[in-house]
Amino acid sequence: MDLVEFENVSMRYGEEGPMAIENISLSVRENEFVAVVGPSGCGKSTLMKLVTGLAPPSDGYVYLGGKQVSGPQQGVGMAFQASNLLPWRTTLDNILLPMEIVQDYRHRFRAEKATFQEQGRALLARVGLAGCEDKFPWELSGGMQQRASICRALIHRPSLLMLDEPFGALDAFTREELWCMVRDLWQEEPFTVVLVTHDLREAVFLADTVYVMSKGPGRILVRKPVDLPRP
Ligand code: ADP
Ligand code: ADP
Repeated sequence: MDLVEFENVSMRYGEEGPMAIENISLSVRENEFVAVVGPSGCGKSTLMKLVTGLAPPSDGYVYLGGKQVSGPQQGVGMAFQASNLLPWRTTLDNILLPMEIVQDYRHRFRAEKATFQEQGRALLARVGLAGCEDKFPWELSGGMQQRASICRALIHRPSLLMLDEPFGALDAFTREELWCMVRDLWQEEPFTVVLVTHDLREAVFLADTVYVMSKGPGRILVRKPVDLPRP
């Protein structure tokens, strides 16, 4: 089943502005790992805003889980180039944030806090952050902050995980460690991912399917299933 579907989607900012993306059609199957690659300015962030319902398309249709997207989607987990962890919260409290605000969980948060904390600890352990639960973001390295940020995006079991250049600010060694972490998480228990990146090597390493967007109108050029052996 397709979890995400774009049907001839175009988007411009403002009435008169140029097209940020033009006539894009793509689909993402459930539990598929999709990467969208392209140079800066080709419309990757715009694509992301459309899936998450932060902006409506100027033309065409965007579906998530078979429903047309209208307005912000709480069931989508997101992680960005900056971890955006709240500095006054511990790592565990940061990653539990979705449980406090996402509709499906927030009414249960008070009563089931201990259970949620247990789930949070288990997830942190899976990404190598056991022992960091009570640390504050400034006590974590950049790579550890991104691990936590990905945990926060996953903790409420979103139907879709959107990753926007989450490894972009990391050094090459840390970046590859995190690639492996994300790939291991996904292989243990698949979920649906759309990764937006300008790094083709990253896209090929991680994704099942790679979409390449060109600059300018931002059309999709290739839908290429990745069948290279993965290390
Ligand atoms: P990418 O994420 O691939 O760098 P974007 O989606 O941010 O690309 O941008 C695609 C195009 O839309 C660019 O030409 C950019 O200048 C334009 N654009 C992006 N955001 C805005 C905005 N808020 N207002 C006007 N134009 C924008
Ligand atoms: P709670 O844990 O009570 O749900 P938060 O941990 O999100 O709430 O925030 C606690 C309080 O700290 C809030 O009132 C928030 O506005 C305030 N706050 C906002 N920014 C900062 C900051 N940079 N450092 C410390 N406290 C902040």
